[in-house]
Amino acid sequence: PEEAELEALQHADAAALLPVPGVESDKYRRGVVGIAAGSARYPGAAVLAVAGALRGGAGAVRYVGPAGEAVIARFPETLVSDQGPKQAGRVQAWVVGPGAGDDAGTVAEVLDADVPVLVDADGLRLAEVGAVRARTAPTLMTPHAGEAAALLGVAREEVEAGRLAAVRELAGRYRATVLLKGSTTLVADAGGGVVRVNATGTGWLATAGSGDVLSGVAGSLLAAGLSALDAGSVGAYLHGLAGRFAAEGAPVGAHEVAGAVGRAWRDVVRR
Ligand code: AMP
Ligand code: MG
Repeated sequence: PEEAELEALQHADAAALLPVPGVESDKYRRGVVGIAAGSARYPGAAVLAVAGALRGGAGAVRYVGPAGEAVIARFPETLVSDQGPKQAGRVQAWVVGPGAGDDAGTVAEVLDADVPVLVDADGLRLAEVGAVRARTAPTLMTPHAGEAAALLGVAREEVEAGRLAAVRELAGRYRATVLLKGSTTLVADAGGGVVRVNATGTGWLATAGSGDVLSGVAGSLLAAGLSALDAGSVGAYLHGLAGRFAAEGAPVGAHEVAGAVGRAWRDVVRR
């Protein structure tokens, strides 16, 4: 498409899209999200992605990777598997990449799954363009400007100077929905024809681990059945509000942002 159709996600849109469980719900209908993240070096990324996923509304969170002990110590409700993604059991959407290091095999295995996949952080670097383009289920990629620049082979400044062009270019190149993080978040659908803009965030979200929380929240929404465009934009909406609520004008850690996702959810549903 020549021009992108720009949309701002409204509060009412977010409210209509949030998967609030009804009487007929069970954990599988709510969605099982798989998290393939973390490493011996960065176990915290796994904990933060799981934290985000639990608050994002999924019925269950399954974790695969080397940080199972850290995850279970913090979140005993997590289904921790010591096998790879293919053997992990039922998963309705995957999050792959936060703190994952150089485990290209796991990224390839997750991309091979026939369910929606969110790719973040190290996973972005390790995901083959061809493997992403070949997917039939939705893919949501969530780079910040530096990661987007690396994928495009340009300087970070170039992405910062042309964020709309960059997110559309990536969406076309990977044939995936792309969420470009920053002070405002842009979410381009696969192809780049529609771009949603989210500005609920705050500068206090510029803190280590903040993006790992977002990956879990948006992954949870994918598992609940939202499209990649909706999961990305509603995820960014909730995450931004959670940042505001957690910070209230003072610095916070990413785990506190995760803890405030519930407040953000309530605010969206009630207002
Ligand atoms: P990451 O760089 O992967 O940890 O992700 C950082 C997260 O914080 C993303 O969701 C960004 O959109 C958000 N963020 C970073 N800086 C700002 C800012 N100045 N204003 C609002 N949100 C921000
Ligand atoms: Mg990140």
